[in-house]
Amino acid sequence: MSIMILVVEDNADLLDFFRLNLELAGYRVTTARHGLEAQRRLRAEEPDLLILDLGLPLMDGFAVLEWLRGFSDLPVIILTAWDGDEIVRAFNLGIDDYVAKPVSSRALLARVRMVAGTGALESGPLRGVCRSGDLLIDFEDQKVYFAGEPVRLSRTEFRLLKVFADHIGQTLEHQELVQLMWEHDYDDDTAMRQIDHQLLHLTIHRLCQSIEPDPGNPVYIIAEPGVGYRLQQH
Ligand code: CA
Repeated sequence: MSIMILVVEDNADLLDFFRLNLELAGYRVTTARHGLEAQRRLRAEEPDLLILDLGLPLMDGFAVLEWLRGFSDLPVIILTAWDGDEIVRAFNLGIDDYVAKPVSSRALLARVRMVAGTGALESGPLRGVCRSGDLLIDFEDQKVYFAGEPVRLSRTEFRLLKVFADHIGQTLEHQELVQLMWEHDYDDDTAMRQIDHQLLHLTIHRLCQSIEPDPGNPVYIIAEPGVGYRLQQH
């Protein structure tokens, strides 16, 4: 069965554009025009992925997101104008990725592939498990353990840990990390680059809160000031 995507967007032309492009790429698509309809569809149809506009009538995208995260870990990509604060706010509510308007079909499909699980998680040299000290990462099951206890990570945090594990012991520069994490097409888009740097630092911070015994003195995710970060091999 192909992946089913719920697209929530109040602009009818845009909604048609998304539906057409996603269906051509082989996804099943269901749609909603406002937040309340989105809630109904999320309950009734159990999609595999949500593409959510933030500016919606009746109930905006943030409210939908907050409601959804109360009970579901469903992958979410938001549609947004270029607004770093808005993207960071949505990121803190647990979105997986964002696409800025005006949306190109290429960017949209790249994000969908990435978030739907056919992107970076599947690439890279590592399979099986990676171990460093008390930290154990199981790539087959996408689970992480610390001293034998399961650690709960968001998909984004797991993806970052996977990027680090693929290069264990090797310091990755900020720019490299951003590229490996999001695979966004920057060209010379400095606004997107800046936002992604911000998202990277938020994700590193959260990852450290989750896996470091003392987040104030990290022993796994090591910062090289002015250079980047690495996952330390113990
Ligand atoms: Ca809108």
